Amino acid sequence: MKITERFEYLKKNDPDIYKWIMAETDRQETTLELIPSECAASPAVIEAMGSVLTNKYSEGYPGRRYYGGNEFIDEIEKIAQERAKKLFGVPYANVQPYSGSPANFAVYMALLKPGDTVMGQALPDGGHLTHGWKASATSIYFNSVQYHVKEDGYLDLPEVRALAKKHSPKLIWVGATAYVREFPFEEFGKIADEVGAYLAADTAHISGLIVGGAHKSPAPFAHIITTTTHKTLRGPRGGMILVTEKGLKKDPDLSSKIDQAIFPKLQGGPHNHQTAAIAVALGEALKPEFKVWARQVVRNAQALGEALVEGGMIIVTGGTDNHMILAECGKGKGVFMQDALDAAGITLNKNTIPKEPESPFYPSGIRMGTPIVTIRGMKEPEMKKIGSWIARVYKAVSEYVLPEGKEERTKYLEDFRSKIKKNDGLMKIRGEVNALCREFPLYP
Ligand SMILES: *Cc1c(COP(=O)(O)O)cnc(C)c1O
Repeated sequence: MKITERFEYLKKNDPDIYKWIMAETDRQETTLELIPSECAASPAVIEAMGSVLTNKYSEGYPGRRYYGGNEFIDEIEKIAQERAKKLFGVPYANVQPYSGSPANFAVYMALLKPGDTVMGQALPDGGHLTHGWKASATSIYFNSVQYHVKEDGYLDLPEVRALAKKHSPKLIWVGATAYVREFPFEEFGKIADEVGAYLAADTAHISGLIVGGAHKSPAPFAHIITTTTHKTLRGPRGGMILVTEKGLKKDPDLSSKIDQAIFPKLQGGPHNHQTAAIAVALGEALKPEFKVWARQVVRNAQALGEALVEGGMIIVTGGTDNHMILAECGKGKGVFMQDALDAAGITLNKNTIPKEPESPFYPSGIRMGTPIVTIRGMKEPEMKKIGSWIARVYKAVSEYVLPEGKEERTKYLEDFRSKIKKNDGLMKIRGEVNALCREFPLYP
């Protein structure tokens, strides 16, 4: 059955919502989705999400719940835990976090007291909000120290070590939301050991690559691993926290601290439909095809990066080790690129670049990734095409320059957006994008 044919009740009972779900399904099918934090869950994962498991309250953990009637839910959660442990090679997994950010906050709850010091990668340097960025609760309730990337886009390890020695954090994060190179987990592990800190590896973006064998695993070096389940793991939106052998050696109570941090400290009942869908996704990730996909994701990202460079663009660090590419587009031009590409049927996001010369609201780069186009079956030749379209758009927007004043910017961008809607070059690319999407359907 096609993914659009599963909604007979909704179609009848709520035509408004039905209509927009169909519209969104069509958008995903007919455009190239290059946002690297997004993926496309399989029909089996989506079926599990749409099940009656959403009806059930199950506060607690398998075998120790607050409510009755959980004998089948227990089985599902145990399967999810077992598959997670097997995939990551760790002795313990909590599969209940509602998403990546709550998973990360639970790590703070488990390990720190308010005011304790934590270290993470700064947001404009590719780090995540939850690693102590100033707008996040993690810097409101904890003392946050931030480390950076160097001009060349690589992590500044001497800075990480110096800051760790100076501030003696209790918790250090490694992992990012916009970083294109392999993380030096081993070095981070040494630094954390030197200052007696816990090392948490946030693998939200790359967990699918790790379990697919296309990226080094942090398991031997970190005490804790967190991840989302909806990025390269190809599952439903959700999160997980894993404790490694090294973590249990440092603190034999670590897993029960994590369990208590999730419930009762932060969350109530787990989302059982989500747990089941995570189990299904992890089951898929255990299959050999998943490894083939993960490796192709990286090869496609490298091919896309090469095509951008051939088209005259500059990419951060000159390449990529993972599913993601960061391209420099000129001071403040990320927003022009994002909007123009949107009009051309290519979805990606504006992003800061190392030593960003503008504010994060008007960043100078774009971020893109290959997980979804690889699910569609596209390979290096298609990446060349996509890269040349992006480079064409780059040339088309080069004449636009972001004004300095705030009000002028708003007006300038309005003008820009109305102009690109009528731009023939972009409409031509849009037609070619549609044709490529039809050739490689997302949900055949
Ligand atoms: C996406 C992401 C998160 C947060 O996940 P949400 O599910 O959006 O809360 C956390 N850390 C990193 C590194 C991420 O990329």
